[in-house]
Order: sequence, then C-alpha cells, then structure tokens
Amino acid sequence: MIELRNVGKRYGNGPASHEALRNINISIHDGEVFGVLGSSGAGKSTLVRCINLLERPTSGQVLINGVDVTNTHGKELAQLRSHIGMIFQNFSLFQQRTAIENVQFPLEVAHMPRKERVQRAEHLLELVGLQGLEQRYPAQLSGGQQQRVAIARALATDPTIMLCDEATSALDSTSTAQVLDLLQHINRTTGVTMVVITHSLQVARALCDRVAVIDGGSIVEQGPTEALFAHP
Ligand code: ADP
Ligand code: ADP
Repeated sequence: MIELRNVGKRYGNGPASHEALRNINISIHDGEVFGVLGSSGAGKSTLVRCINLLERPTSGQVLINGVDVTNTHGKELAQLRSHIGMIFQNFSLFQQRTAIENVQFPLEVAHMPRKERVQRAEHLLELVGLQGLEQRYPAQLSGGQQQRVAIARALATDPTIMLCDEATSALDSTSTAQVLDLLQHINRTTGVTMVVITHSLQVARALCDRVAVIDGGSIVEQGPTEALFAHP
C-alpha cells in the first residue's frame, strides 16, 4: 500500500515560490491501477515524484506498506527505489544500447551474472512482444516498440510498484491501445501496483481501477473510475 498523508510540495522559497501540491491524501492498494488525472501543470508529476522520492514533500508523509519513507536516504532509498519501476512519455532509453542491453542494464547494476541477465532480458522482451528485435537500437524501433523496451526494462528487477508518467502520450492511437493492453496484462498477471499519470480521460477509463483528479495542486475528485465517469 502506498499512502500520501497531507502531502504538500512547495518549489523554491519566499515570494517566488510555487505551491505545486496542497494537502494530498491518497491510499493506493496493492495490485490496483491508480490513475492521477489532470491537465498540464496540475501537479501530477510532482505527486508521483513524491512516491519515489525524486521530490521530497515539504509537508506531510509518504508511507509504503505502513513505513514512513518521507526522510529515507542513502542505501535505504536505493533499496526502496529498486522495488519501483518507472516509464516515461519519451521512453528514456539509452540510445547507444540495443533493446536487450537496455533491459539488462538494471540487472547489471544489481550485479546479476551475465548469463542469467541475458536470459531474463530475453524472457522480458518476449513478454512484451519484441522477440526477434533484441539487437535493434532504439532509433530502429517504432515509438510503441520503444515503450515496450522501456516496460521490459522497468520490470527487470521485479518491482512491486510501477509508475507510468504519460506513458502513451507520444504514441499514435494504435500503439496507445497496444501499450495499454500490455500494461493491463502485466498488472493482472504480476499483481504489480501501477500509478498512472495521464491527462487523457480515455487512458484513465481504459486502464485505471480508481482515479484521483488533480487541479492546481489539489485533489478535486477521487473514486472508482466507473463512478467518476458514469454518465447520468
Ligand atoms: P503536471 O505533471 O501535472 O504537468 P507538474 O507536477 O510537472 O505538473 O508541475 C506542477 C507545477 O509545479 C507547475 O506549475 C510547474 O511549473 C511547477 N514545477 C514543477 N517542477 C518544478 C520545479 N522543479 N521548480 C519549480 N516549479 C516547478
Ligand atoms: P518470470 O516469473 O517472469 O518467469 P522470474 O521471476 O522467474 O521471471 O525471474 C527470471 C530470472 O530472473 C530468475 O533467474 C530470477 O532469479 C531472476 N530475478 C528475478 N527478479 C530478480 C531481481 N529482482 N534481482 C535479481 N534477479 C532476479
């Protein structure tokens, strides 16, 4: 379970400071797909960056499985992050590495022996439907295929939480549908908890069990997706 309790985030100090988050309260259950929906500048990325502590809240607490991690540093923070996979709008792949080298990278960092990590990377690329494309460089893959490599890389260390920041925003509608299907399949088969940032109602409806709508740094609505988007 991921809990944000009265989380606030202020960038900068004094009159030039900006309050990006205000009194955020969210509980995300194990295995669910939780959407953070809002327009550009609403505070979505800041909220999700408070979960992996790329940003520190200026007030409130972040709890993971009941443990207050708000002030975690050093080794403990690295340990915590090793259980969190991330994918981004722009895929963030290493351009000088092939697909399989990209997927192996976190396993290299974790000192997994070469033979084992090659096997695992092959297995993950097959899982995301990229068998046969292992030796391609990112520039030789479509956007949808690049995002699949990024998903395989995010899964390499077997995370319990996956943070998806506008993961389909750079993709055409066909690739978007395929990537959303893949994420749903991964959630259902592995039980990984997913936090999905999106500005798209369509993505929220297709993928998320529950959604928090954020506007101007505050949550304005929160609940099961079907209840939030039910037509009268
Ligand atoms: P979203 O992801 O919904 O587009 P962000 O969380 O990126 O929103 O940003 C929320 C607000 O905080 C915006 O007004 C943005 O300009 C501001 N902001 C984000 N990051 C920083 C930063 N590092 N320093 C100052 N202001 C920031
Ligand atoms: P799957 O269940 O998807 O087939 P596994 O969980 O069995 O994949 O993992 C495949 C290989 O990767 C195994 O050799 C396993 O020991 C190794 N492995 C899995 N997760 C990690 C991890 N977080 N760190 C190091 N090795 C891992």
